[in-house]
Amino acid sequence: MRDNTNNSHPTILYLRVDIDIASGLNQGAPRLLKLFSELGITASFFIPSGPDRSGIAIKRVITRPGFLRRMWRLKAPSTYGVRALFSGVLLPPIYLISKGRDILKQIMEQGHELGLHGYDHFYWQDNIDRLPKEEIDRMISLGFAEFERYLSRKPEGFASPGWIYNAQIAEILDSYNLLYSSDCRGRAPFFPKFPEYQAKTLQIPTTLPTMDELIVLRKNSTAYALLTQKLFMQKRAVHTIHAEIEGGRGFPDFQKWLESLMEMGDQKIRFDRMDRFAKEKIREQEYHQNIPIHAVQRGSLPGRFDSVAIQS
Ligand SMILES: [Zn+2]
Repeated sequence: MRDNTNNSHPTILYLRVDIDIASGLNQGAPRLLKLFSELGITASFFIPSGPDRSGIAIKRVITRPGFLRRMWRLKAPSTYGVRALFSGVLLPPIYLISKGRDILKQIMEQGHELGLHGYDHFYWQDNIDRLPKEEIDRMISLGFAEFERYLSRKPEGFASPGWIYNAQIAEILDSYNLLYSSDCRGRAPFFPKFPEYQAKTLQIPTTLPTMDELIVLRKNSTAYALLTQKLFMQKRAVHTIHAEIEGGRGFPDFQKWLESLMEMGDQKIRFDRMDRFAKEKIREQEYHQNIPIHAVQRGSLPGRFDSVAIQS
């Protein structure tokens, strides 16, 4: 049913779909593609182009407080699959991008955006802050090279794994002439500023909490109600989902949520791709509506135990 009483501008929701592990690629992405096509939704997908070492998650259970509780709440083995828990630790890692060319082609053919989500996702999350600049440079350049090798084009958007992002990463990413990158949590597009470096690549932060954060704080049944409430407080919202979660065991709830949004009608809500958001912001800037410069700091968010880059 259309809501014609609200004539103000609709909220635009940019769905950022991260495909982090094999089950996200093989089962989650096809399921999400089918749903998006039924509902007429376009979204932005991101994939790492290196090895899937999600088995490193096992190490985190032992080394990080709070992780076990979180994995239990998320029912980790059923969400990620037993294969994923050992991938890259006991079993040889899977290279998602090389295994998934058909599904990745479908993503692009169906009008969605496909961007780069780093090279080695879990290695990035755990180690990138400690690495010398040359090593970060090597990882990022491998990421771009592998993406291009398998997909025969360059990505226009980049998303740092786990929102782990710093001045060195920003400086290296600036050399790739990206349309935008999405490495932080925040409120609206901006140019990131660090004490030692100011980024030239437009930053489009994730503006809404992720479902795994909301589930830690709330019961499943009320988590989506809270998300909807937060969504309509924003005119432009970026929501990050994971193909292995929202396209996996979280699919029924995610589907219900999207359907309830679609019922509100396009006067209230529309969906679009992040690259179009970036192009629009850059066009606006040409008409002297300046994109702000903001500092980026590392911090924690409710429902999240590891710290992430946050627009301040
Ligand atoms: Zn990810």
